[in-house]
Amino acid sequence: MKIVKAYQNFAGKCKDHVTYMMNISAYALPEDLQNDINAAKERFGSIRDEIAGTCDGDSAASRVNNLLQGLKKRYIDWYLAEHAKHRLDIKESKRKNQLMQSGTRSDLSRLEEIDFLPGAKLSALETELARLKTCYELTPDKLNSVTVCSSCKFVPGSAEPIVKGQLDSIEERMEGMLAEWTKSLHDTVSDPTLSDQMQYLTAEQQSRLKAFIDTAELPEPVDVYFIEAVKKYITGFDVVTIDSAKLLETLIKRGPCNEDDFRKAFNDLLSQAIRGKDKSKLRIVVK
Ligand SMILES: [Zn+2]
Repeated sequence: MKIVKAYQNFAGKCKDHVTYMMNISAYALPEDLQNDINAAKERFGSIRDEIAGTCDGDSAASRVNNLLQGLKKRYIDWYLAEHAKHRLDIKESKRKNQLMQSGTRSDLSRLEEIDFLPGAKLSALETELARLKTCYELTPDKLNSVTVCSSCKFVPGSAEPIVKGQLDSIEERMEGMLAEWTKSLHDTVSDPTLSDQMQYLTAEQQSRLKAFIDTAELPEPVDVYFIEAVKKYITGFDVVTIDSAKLLETLIKRGPCNEDDFRKAFNDLLSQAIRGKDKSKLRIVVK
């Protein structure tokens, strides 16, 4: 009877720590922590078995708890670091909102309406930005009783993207995209073959467009009137869009081939895309 009581006492006093360890064992933990947890499981077995001889559940429980407490602390430190890598804090969250409402983004959104600019690239970047998750609710104390953040339920070792440093990267890419689009737009509207189109624009549209052609600088902000002027101006062009995925697929499908075959594959695709178009007005865009 004394032994049964000692075991019960032991089990009751270690229960919380043991359950916690069992829960975290389900995650992809760092190797050293995982190894030490495995070793602790064996140590747990031998401490428990010693109770048969000592009948001292209290002392066995306190040895197990000391052992598991250290592992739990290591897990909490690691989880906090992982959580910080995968969640924006309050300051970063504000910056995310600023980026979403920035002049750069709104200029890009307007320019996206122009057919030959690759709007899908902007959508991909916007999706990437929108997906960055925010959580600034977690404190070390909260992980004493639960193994994941109760606010955002971040599961460590999951395939969630790292958000640390992403805001810098997205902002840089957004600015790069605006510079690229500005250049591409400027190259297009500066084409002298289009100048006849100018007469179809209103005086205000003409002055806006001429300012852009002269300075290569977009109006601030880019507004709907500017976009309308550009659209009207470039109607002199016949824009043909070639899907980049389709282009790649056509070339990849041929497998290794000689120069003539490669040219033929490309030419076939091109001829198909521009069939029936006026070559002098043609502008080919790969999106
Ligand atoms: Zn969280």
